[in-house]
Amino acid sequence: MNKKEVFEQVSFMEEQIGQLYQQLGDLKQHLAEVLEENHRLAVENHHLRNRLDGSVEASADGKEPTGQHGKEEPVGEGYDNLARLYDEGFHICNVHFGSPRQDEDCLFCLLFLNKTK
Ligand SMILES: [Zn+2]
Repeated sequence: MNKKEVFEQVSFMEEQIGQLYQQLGDLKQHLAEVLEENHRLAVENHHLRNRLDGSVEASADGKEPTGQHGKEEPVGEGYDNLARLYDEGFHICNVHFGSPRQDEDCLFCLLFLNKTK
């Protein structure tokens, strides 16, 4: 192998390493997106499960869930849960219920909160 061939070989390897580095970066970015999506779905799933448990309870006697001592509360636990859900970034309106809000206020949700309050 003469000097020119060695130089070409090294240049070729350098190029390949550059491409591998690029691919590694892309892969890392993709992994981060997948992990983020997974986390988002886990949180959403958790909230939806809680919500599902709540509505099964509520529809059992056809009324909104009341306090532990059975007294009527105009601003009750249900409202707090929904308000918290909204604050955590999820829709509580019947249009997009349970889906993430992406940091934007939703008119339907806000109307719903005001109506419930
Ligand atoms: Zn909404």
